[in-house]
Amino acid sequence: MSDSAEVVIVGGGVMGCSIQHGLAEKGVHDSLLLEQNALASGSTSRSQAILRMHYSNEVTARLAWESLKIFKDFEEIVGSPSGYTQTGYLLIVPREDIQPMRQNLDMQKVVGINTVEVSREDLYTLCDMVETYENESYSWEPDSGYADPYLVTTGYASRSRQLGARIEASTRVLSIDIVGGRVNGVVTDKGVVSTDTVVLATGPWSGPLLESVDSDIKLDTVRHQVVLLKHSNALRSSHPIIGDVTLDLSARPDVGGLTMIGVGEDENADPDSFNQGVDMPMVEKTMANMIRRIPSMESAQFIGGWSGLFTTTPDWHPVLDQIEGIKGLYCAVGFSGHGFKLSPMIGKVMSEIIVEGQSTSVDVSRLNASRFKTGNLLESNYRMQVLA
Ligand SMILES: Cc1cc2nc3c(=O)[nH]c(=O)nc-3n(C[C@H](O)[C@H](O)[C@H](O)COP(=O)(O)OP(=O)(O)OC[C@H]3O[C@@H](n4cnc5c(N)ncnc54)[C@H](O)[C@@H]3O)c2cc1C
Repeated sequence: MSDSAEVVIVGGGVMGCSIQHGLAEKGVHDSLLLEQNALASGSTSRSQAILRMHYSNEVTARLAWESLKIFKDFEEIVGSPSGYTQTGYLLIVPREDIQPMRQNLDMQKVVGINTVEVSREDLYTLCDMVETYENESYSWEPDSGYADPYLVTTGYASRSRQLGARIEASTRVLSIDIVGGRVNGVVTDKGVVSTDTVVLATGPWSGPLLESVDSDIKLDTVRHQVVLLKHSNALRSSHPIIGDVTLDLSARPDVGGLTMIGVGEDENADPDSFNQGVDMPMVEKTMANMIRRIPSMESAQFIGGWSGLFTTTPDWHPVLDQIEGIKGLYCAVGFSGHGFKLSPMIGKVMSEIIVEGQSTSVDVSRLNASRFKTGNLLESNYRMQVLA
């Protein structure tokens, strides 16, 4: 067990590994990542891994757009593939959301994102298997798709190791040692590591460590289900990713004629004891909705599914900041159901905050911790919170 490091990163999900890589790229080679279980074993392993740019606020849209560029060039940058697969992203909103959607599209175009509003007729040309209904509106992002969370996490880890960083799995951080308002080290179940800089990238397990340093960042852990359907030959080709606000689901194709459908009602759950399966009433409702959207799914079979946890803040956007009043303690937590797509840029901006004192590649100061105290939360134009 290493007994000191320039920076200790707690958590080996996609965020911790991306942050360690970002630090190594910035010349911080003496870092130690501690993971209580195995790399990518937390929320990262449950992700639908959808990469889309449609958000209601500019900072998140920018992070997603810049991250997409990295997912595409991952092999060149990191040395191994990200599994990026381009499918296009179709957003479907009810009529009452048309103005908010147009507002978002205008903002996204300013950012440089390739996105466009499409009509029912356009949609039929883009993807004739998708059924459209009266009182709906649509937008299309051709570059969006999905990537592989395991490949991305372990790709970052391998590259960081090559750059001199250390990773220790099966090591739980029990507490953070703070002396005179500064980080002095971490206490783990294998011993003490001295350091003056700690980054918490602890996903759904963040609560107790934040509370132990008297942080008032409030996080909830919300169970989200993923239903897996296998198509019959009736589905002639693959469908794009569909973010369906009308039917409250997100559907992603996968190899082998599969569709992963993310659904969920807000249900708080404990990260160490939550129900990791899917609920049959939810499966039935999801299949009915999916058939409504893609009628040829009628002959698809339910073949399984899983649940994972979103770690949510009050506005469903993360906190990327130093912990108030403690020098050397940082956090990247609260990514809810949309962190994976931001993960390449999270490594970059967190390493900038740690090394240079502020984020420069994308200014993420809007994602500060104090917004919950001042009430200056980020707002979503939609009721489907995960769309944020
Ligand atoms: C069902 C589901 C679907 C999703 N779909 C999408 C999607 O389509 N697109 C998208 O962009 N995002 C999606 N997300 C969100 C995305 O997966 C998460 O935001 C992201 O994976 C969070 O990564 P993380 O590294 O912060 O957390 P985690 O992956 O949970 O990693 C945290 C790690 O910290 C470790 N840890 C915690 N405490 C300690 C400790 N004290 N000591 C040592 N180690 C510790 C844990 O073991 C864990 O491995 C989805 C999430 C879920 C659950």
